[in-house]
Amino acid sequence: MTLFPEKISELKDYNCSENAFLPRVVTIPLSQELKCTCESLVKEGDVVTEGQIIAQPSSADNKYANIHASIPGKVLSLINCNTPNGRLEPAIKIALEGSFDFVGKKFLESKITELSPAEIIDRITQAGVINIFDTKRPENLSKLLKSATGQAIVVRLFDEDSTRITDSLITKFYLPQLIEAAKFLAKSIDSNKIVFVCDSKQADFSALEQDDKIIVIHAKHNKYTAGFKSSIISLFHKYTKKNPTISFKLSKKDVFIDSSSLYDVHKAVVTKIPSISKIVHFSGNCLKTSGLLNVKIGTTIRDILKQIGGLSKEPKQIIINGSIRGTAVNNLAVPITKYVKSVAVITKKSFTDFQIYSCISCGNCRLACPSKLLPDVIYNLTENNVVFSDEVKTSVKNCIECGCCNMFCPARLPLTQTQKTLKEKFFETQEKNNEQ
Ligand code: SF4
Ligand code: SF4
Repeated sequence: MTLFPEKISELKDYNCSENAFLPRVVTIPLSQELKCTCESLVKEGDVVTEGQIIAQPSSADNKYANIHASIPGKVLSLINCNTPNGRLEPAIKIALEGSFDFVGKKFLESKITELSPAEIIDRITQAGVINIFDTKRPENLSKLLKSATGQAIVVRLFDEDSTRITDSLITKFYLPQLIEAAKFLAKSIDSNKIVFVCDSKQADFSALEQDDKIIVIHAKHNKYTAGFKSSIISLFHKYTKKNPTISFKLSKKDVFIDSSSLYDVHKAVVTKIPSISKIVHFSGNCLKTSGLLNVKIGTTIRDILKQIGGLSKEPKQIIINGSIRGTAVNNLAVPITKYVKSVAVITKKSFTDFQIYSCISCGNCRLACPSKLLPDVIYNLTENNVVFSDEVKTSVKNCIECGCCNMFCPARLPLTQTQKTLKEKFFETQEKNNEQ
């Protein structure tokens, strides 16, 4: 175990993930994906088994995933709780009671390689696996697979937010499982195109490179946005130019997945264990030690901190999923959800303040933007309620929501958030109308 801050060089200090203590009570939010709040199937006083489906989306079209009980027990109440995305969401509170169906049991299946594509997708659906390649947009993996026949599987083995090391740690400990899971995914969508994107500084990937079913490309994880879809697509494009025998190109329609989600795929397909736990990295300058733990969904941050030695300083901020792309919450009662990869508990000094000033026209945001946009112009137009031209709308569409503009803005203006809101307003409403 190591001390905050997280650095890629600290990967060597970890041995493996440990199981967190079993919580006596879990609080499971009904919203685990973007724009979906599931409906509870249980009520106060009901007895549930480990892995039982306790909530499902209101639409029956498999667009969103089911939510399972992470422990066996009795439903204490349906409440509202603060969630890792900074919102207040409905949740189910369960008190531990009874025996476990999955904990401590070994599930070995010998005929796993004979599963049909439909059976693989069915196991992923039953398990409620969420793809958190983009932690800001968690989405139901089985829905993604059903519309991706013949597309490539693109696995990113490092964290897109370089202030986090969870995906890199999972890659370090579970690479054989990730390779197997990627092959299951390719089979499920009838594809033979598998691309692994790795950072050679993380580990030795020579074994991976010897697998002739997998194309391995190398990115620089500390060059921010290297882990975004658009950067990976252009990196692969350069690679194919040097390797003309590769006859396909990548596009945003391919299945992009991260180490953390792929690990859940392996669990779902090989052991049929539903998504009831998550590997999470805990760190921060308020903690005595940091650690990588396998945590039951719904366990509160406070319960985990007790296990890893408690607090050494008074915390002011809790950063979920990294300082660049994550969310700040200020409550230790926040539970772990399917989209949490890391928790950093820090003093206020470690994080930027939230006071907003006026734009001083320094130009930092323009220099920082990898898509060469003008975030300050868009922000100022929005503030002044100006009607947007088609040119501005196209510019908004090209924003990859990397957060670079926010990071370099001395006035702390919510530049990325403005782009995101406008994108939803201009394009997602239009897509919704087209779907209807
Ligand atoms: S978030 Fe900011 S820096 Fe990143 S692409 Fe969008 S406008 Fe550019
Ligand atoms: S970085 Fe912030 S203050 Fe500087 S031009 Fe951009 S919006 Fe204005």
